[in-house]
Amino acid sequence: MKLESVKRTAVIGAGAMGSQIAQLLSLVGGYPVTITDVKDEFVQNGIQFISDGLKRHFVDKGKMSQAQMDEVVGRIRGTTNLPQAVKDADFVIEAVFENLDVKKNVFRQLDENAPPDAVLVSNTSGLNITEMAIATKRPDKVVGMHFFNPVAVMKLVEVVKGPLTSPETIELAVAMTKKLGKEPVVCKDFSYGFLANRAYIAMMTEAVQMVWERVASPEEIDKALKLGYNLPMGPLELGDYTGAWALTVSSEQDRMRELGPEKGHVHPLIRMMVRAGYTGGRGKKGIYDFYKEVLSKG
Ligand code: NAD
Repeated sequence: MKLESVKRTAVIGAGAMGSQIAQLLSLVGGYPVTITDVKDEFVQNGIQFISDGLKRHFVDKGKMSQAQMDEVVGRIRGTTNLPQAVKDADFVIEAVFENLDVKKNVFRQLDENAPPDAVLVSNTSGLNITEMAIATKRPDKVVGMHFFNPVAVMKLVEVVKGPLTSPETIELAVAMTKKLGKEPVVCKDFSYGFLANRAYIAMMTEAVQMVWERVASPEEIDKALKLGYNLPMGPLELGDYTGAWALTVSSEQDRMRELGPEKGHVHPLIRMMVRAGYTGGRGKKGIYDFYKEVLSKG
């Protein structure tokens, strides 16, 4: 499929990434988007998050009129009915939990319900695209597009090519990335964490280990990394912001299989935090609070 043939889009999962990707598709791409999740409450929260963000960042700052905002939000339709959501979609982006079994099940449903020539995209942070592709009868039309959080700000999209992904599908993913105002890098799907996360997670894991050893507080560790390496955010605050802790736990099995126990296992501190509800992510406490409220107390 060529970029010009994409008329309608769908996003599966209305969480942190799904809602931001739906906004991008409507706001920058100008596409009608149908967004779906397992509960109506999640769909409505996702759409509300988009409206609130557009109002705060654009309308209140005079960068967009209320009518323009209504048009952007009006292009986004929500439903809990996945078959309905994708039945007319040419380009579908999956952004559900980072768990291969959950994603494979979604890809099976997408394949059964989306038009035969529709391209199916995963926003996975590191799972294997081929595993999702072989759950469908169109592995040539399955590709990864790894957006970064916050989607409106971060320029990078990793376009992830499985051995079965066709050159035409890669070309479309690259063209779509550019149309959405982002910069693509293309990489193969056998690198767990692709390019950026594979290197970044090593640093994040060491930062977590330093908190665990009580070498310094999360603030101090982040400050050292920000000033020492000129990073805009420290890895610990980024983990709190993105919800990386919950994601690490939900993807443990897949990481263990791909990377072995030494690199794949969940750090005991992350496991402890997530069990106690300090998952990071939208409105949730993370490692900064866990350190203050629990770890630093003994
Ligand atoms: P999230 O938990 O905020 O959202 C996931 C959503 O998917 C939830 O609302 C959940 O109800 C929904 N869901 C689960 N199963 C579903 C199904 N079968 N059908 C429809 N919806 C379903 O997670 P997130 O942070 O948005 O991550 C989503 C994906 O994006 C993951 O693959 C993650 O690795 C990737 N990602 C996340 C980030 C980040 O910073 N959070 C960055 C890049 C990529």
